[in-house]
Amino acid sequence: MRLKLIASVLFIAMTISVNLQAQPVKKHGNLSVKGIQLTDEHGNATVLNGISYGWHNWWSQFYNKESVKWLASDWKCSAVRAAMGVEPKGGYVDSPESSKEKIEAVIQGAIDNDIYVLIDFHSHNIRLPEAKAFFTEMATKYGQHPNVIYELFNEPVKDSWSQVKEYSVELIKTIRAIDPDNIILVGSPHWDQDIHLVADDPIVGYNNIMYTCHFYAGTHGQSLRDRCDYALKKGIPIFISESAGMEASGDGPMNYTEWQKWIDWCQSNKISLITWSISSKNETCSMIKPGVSPLGNWKEADLNESGIKTRELLRKQTEKNE
Ligand code: MG
Repeated sequence: MRLKLIASVLFIAMTISVNLQAQPVKKHGNLSVKGIQLTDEHGNATVLNGISYGWHNWWSQFYNKESVKWLASDWKCSAVRAAMGVEPKGGYVDSPESSKEKIEAVIQGAIDNDIYVLIDFHSHNIRLPEAKAFFTEMATKYGQHPNVIYELFNEPVKDSWSQVKEYSVELIKTIRAIDPDNIILVGSPHWDQDIHLVADDPIVGYNNIMYTCHFYAGTHGQSLRDRCDYALKKGIPIFISESAGMEASGDGPMNYTEWQKWIDWCQSNKISLITWSISSKNETCSMIKPGVSPLGNWKEADLNESGIKTRELLRKQTEKNE
């Protein structure tokens, strides 16, 4: 009898804790941009914190609903980023159907688990016809869901701001003809570092547009934050759609001092922050150890140092932002 009683108490406790899982989309609903601030449908400033999956063409095993559920419930992500590799073998140009299937598993996982999702066209070069076809499909299929955020261009490398701007405006027109309101993220030149160039010549005439800056704290410090501050002062809404604590190569030691400065900067400016990445290469930024199940349910022993620290950070941030 006593065992039965303990079992039912445990069951009730577990049910309550599952029900207490944050439901960011239920809480915040449709997002918009007011001035430089990401804002929810009740008019409150909103900060999203989450994780980026690694390139889908190399880490396709992690693109499943179970891992999204785990990142939402245990890591307390309010957003995940589906990074659709475009140019490498197995990417969107090479295999559009299998690429979409992977990305859509994460999108559907995010919808099912009530978190936001960045649909990231993970390219380093302009691929306008492919991007148009892709975002036309995504906006048609998912544009009515408040969960969805479109990211047009992971990181431009050699293209100038005027080229990136022209590409982005074409895609904004394409998406807006189908979906009038979901947030659209625009890349800035030179691996999303040159946000000062965006600030001097922003896109005008469209709603709910933000610009991405990426940092790797082992490489990028105060001078990049100065550029961001310059952009914010000029009215440019910023979203950090990729970042991490080590060098820009994704490897090398964590720089905790500089990483904390970035986290504090994001917190004080109410800027959303996504960390890179769910993958399992033997390198600092790959958070999951090689050989571990891709379906979530990860114990601390399944994560490397950056995974453990990022999970801690996310759980803390979510507490602060709720
Ligand atoms: Mg919409």
